[in-house]
Amino acid sequence: MEKKQDFLRKIVQEDLKSGKYKEVVTRFPPEPNGYLHIGHAKSIAINFGIAKEFGGKCNLRMDDTNPTTEDMEYVKAIEEAVHWLGFDWDGDIKYASNYFDKLYEYAIRLIKMGKAYVDSLSEEEIKEYRGTVTTPGKRSKYANRTIQENLELFERMKNGEFKDGEHVLRAKIDMSSPNMKMRDPLLYRIRHATHYRTGNKWAIYPMYDFAHPLSDYIEGVTHSFCTLEFENNKELYDWILDALNLKEPRPHQYEFARLNMSYTVMSKRKLLELVNKKLVSGWDDPRMPTLAGLKRRGVTPQAILNFCEQIGVAKANSVVDVAQFEFAIRDDLNAKAPRVMCVKEPLEVEIVNFEGSEQLEAPLFPSDIGKAGSRKLSISKTIYIEKEDFSLNPPKGYYRLTPNQPVRLKHAYIIEFVEAIKDENGEVVKIKVKYYPNSKSGQDTSGIKTKSAIQWVDSKTALKAELRIYDRLFQVEMPKGIEDLNPNSLKIVKDALIEPWIVETNVERFQFERIGYFFKEPIDYSKEHPVFNQIVPLKDSWSKKKSKTPQTKQKEQKMHDGRSGELAKLSKEQEAAFQSFLELGLSKQIANIFAREEKLASFFKDALSLYEIGAITIANLVANEVNKAFKEGKEIKTKDIATLAQLIDKEIISSKIAKDVFNLMLKENKDPQSIVKEHNLEQISDPNQIQALIDEVIEKNKTQFEAYKSGNKKLFGFFVGQVLKASGGKANPRLVNELLQKSLN
Ligand code: ATP
Ligand code: MG
Repeated sequence: MEKKQDFLRKIVQEDLKSGKYKEVVTRFPPEPNGYLHIGHAKSIAINFGIAKEFGGKCNLRMDDTNPTTEDMEYVKAIEEAVHWLGFDWDGDIKYASNYFDKLYEYAIRLIKMGKAYVDSLSEEEIKEYRGTVTTPGKRSKYANRTIQENLELFERMKNGEFKDGEHVLRAKIDMSSPNMKMRDPLLYRIRHATHYRTGNKWAIYPMYDFAHPLSDYIEGVTHSFCTLEFENNKELYDWILDALNLKEPRPHQYEFARLNMSYTVMSKRKLLELVNKKLVSGWDDPRMPTLAGLKRRGVTPQAILNFCEQIGVAKANSVVDVAQFEFAIRDDLNAKAPRVMCVKEPLEVEIVNFEGSEQLEAPLFPSDIGKAGSRKLSISKTIYIEKEDFSLNPPKGYYRLTPNQPVRLKHAYIIEFVEAIKDENGEVVKIKVKYYPNSKSGQDTSGIKTKSAIQWVDSKTALKAELRIYDRLFQVEMPKGIEDLNPNSLKIVKDALIEPWIVETNVERFQFERIGYFFKEPIDYSKEHPVFNQIVPLKDSWSKKKSKTPQTKQKEQKMHDGRSGELAKLSKEQEAAFQSFLELGLSKQIANIFAREEKLASFFKDALSLYEIGAITIANLVANEVNKAFKEGKEIKTKDIATLAQLIDKEIISSKIAKDVFNLMLKENKDPQSIVKEHNLEQISDPNQIQALIDEVIEKNKTQFEAYKSGNKKLFGFFVGQVLKASGGKANPRLVNELLQKSLN
C-alpha cells in the first residue's frame, strides 16, 4: 500500500529535488540514561525509516554529554532495541563524547570571535538576570571580560581549577530576545564527575544546545528531527552554526509531535523509578512500555512499526489511546499465531460413554485466515474444560454447557450434561457428560444445535503450564507516576493445562482459544516447566470497565468499530475506506464514523486538501463539532475547519478553546481567525513565558510550595490553577502541567 507522505518526508523530498543535499543523513540520538520505550520507536521509525526510503544514511548517536546519569549497560540495551526493530545504523555507533575535543575547539573559536564569555554569577543570579517573558533580562557584568581573560578562565575551567557552578561559558546573544533560549544561553558548565567513557578527563561538559547542532554538523547530518519541546531551541541551533560560520550544506532542525499514550508513562526518569523501587522486575518487565519489555512480552517488532505508521507523523501533540496500540498488536498476531487450546481453571469432565482414546486432526488457523497446517489432538474418557464454561444455574444469555444445553468441544464432539458431583461445600468438582459419536466436527450428522464451542484438553496428554496474565501497569488514563500503579497488573495462573503440541512445536506465539495471545516466556520457559506471557487478551476489557454510565455506554455503542458485533458489518467499500482512514492516522472510532458517513468523509477530505498535514486534528473537529452542527442542519465551510485545525496544531488555541471558537463562528458567522482575534482567545504556548509565570507563582506561594515538597501532592491542582489564573486563562494547559511537574518535583 502506498505510504502517506507526511510533512517530514515532504521536506526531505523537496531538499533532495532542489539539490540542497545529495543524500539524506539523519540520526537517532538517545541519551544512554535508560532503556528505550515505545515513544522512541516512533523516533526510530522516522529517522531510520526516512533514511531507508530515500536511500540515505542514519546514524545511531549516543547523546552522552551528561556524566552523572549515563552508563554502558544502556548503550548495549539501545543497540539491541534498534536492531530488534529491524534497523541498522551507518558505520560504528557514534558518541557525542567522542567530539568533546572538537566541541572545545569550537567554544574557543566563539570566545575568540567575542561571541562567548565566561560568566561567574551564581545559578540563582543567572536565573534572575534572565528576566521573564514580559521583562527583558540584563546582562552580567562579567560579559565585559576581555577575550584574553575569557580564554584563560575557560582553560582553567577545563583543567578543573574551579568548583562546580563557579563559572559557566555563555554565548553572547541578546538578553532581551523574546525567545528566552537566546538570552545568553549556557554552553558549558563545570562538572567534577566521572564520565562512563571519558572518565575524569573533563571537568567541563557541553550543554545540549551547544553539543547537538555541532554533533549533527560533524557527522554531516542533513535533517535533524526532534520532538516539539525543542521548537524554541531551533533559533539557537541555527545561531551556533551561523556564528561559527559553518555553511550550507549544513544540518537543519525539524520538530514533530512526540508520542504520548494513555495508561502509560513515557519518561525515562519515571521508568527508572519503577525499576529502582522494584515495582517491576526490571527494565524488561513485560508490563513496561520499554522495547525490551515489549519484546519479552511477545509483541513483534512488526506490530510496533505498524502502530507507528498508523499514528502517523503530525505537528501537534496528542495522546494516543493505548487501545490503538493493542489493536495493532492483535492485528499483527491474528495472521501469525496458531489457535490452540489451554484451560486456565480446569474442571474435570468424565465422558461416560467414551471408551479408549481417539486422535483428532485439528486445523491451526480458522479458514478465513487462509493459512494451512494442523496438529493432532487426543481425546479420552476424562477431559478438562474451563470451570466457567459450565453452569448449573446459568444467567440469561449463557451459551455454554448447562443441564439443559449441550455444547461443542472445539474440533471434537458435542457433549450433554449427565450429572454434577459436588464437594461438602456444595461446589461442583467434577461433572459427568455423554457425547454424541455422530457429532464429530466437520462430519456432524447429529442435527443437535449448540450455541458455542469451548476449549478443552485431554487428561491423558495435557501438560501443566504457568500463565502470566498482564494488565495495564497504570490504572488511570493519564498516570502521573507510581501513585497511579494498577495493583492487579500481574496475575499468575500456576495450574493451567495445555495441549501437548504447544510444547512440541518451535512456534513461540499462540492464540489460546477464547483467552488471548501468548508467548513462550523467553527467560523462564522450559519444556519441563512451560511458562507463557499473555501478550494481549482477545478483547479490550478496559473500554467496558470505563463505561459506568448509560450515556457513556450509549456513546461507546455509537463509536463501536463494527468489527465485533453490535453495529452492522462494514461493506467491502466501507472496509477499504476504513483502512484508508486508519492509514491517515485516525483512531478506529473516527475511521469507523467516516467509513459509514459519506457526508462527513467528503467534508473531511476537502478540509484535508486545504491543510494536508492536519489529518488528525481535522478529523477530530469533523467527527465532533461538524457532525453535531450538520445534525442541527447548519452549514460549515471546509476552509474554516482547515484554518481552525491549523490554529490548534500551531498551539495558537487549545482544542478546548477550539470548541468555543467553533460555536462563536456559527453564532457570529465569521472565520476562526477573526473570532480568535476579536475575543482574544490566543493561548500562551511559549514554554519560557509559562515557566516565568510558574516561577512567579512559586515565589508568591512559598508556604504551599513547601507543603507540596513535604508531601502534600494534592496541591498540584492549586498550582495549575494559579498559573492559569496568572496567565489570564490563556496558558496552554498541557504545557502548564508538563512544566509544573518539572518545577515542583
Ligand atoms: P525521556 O523524556 O523519556 O527521558 P528523552 O527525550 O529524554 O526521553 P532521549 O534519549 O533524549 O530521551 O531521546 C532520543 C530521541 O527520541 C530524541 O530525539 C527524542 O526526541 C525522541 N523521543 C523521546 N521520547 C519520544 C516520544 N515519546 N515520542 C517520540 N520521540 C521521542
Ligand atoms: Mg533527552
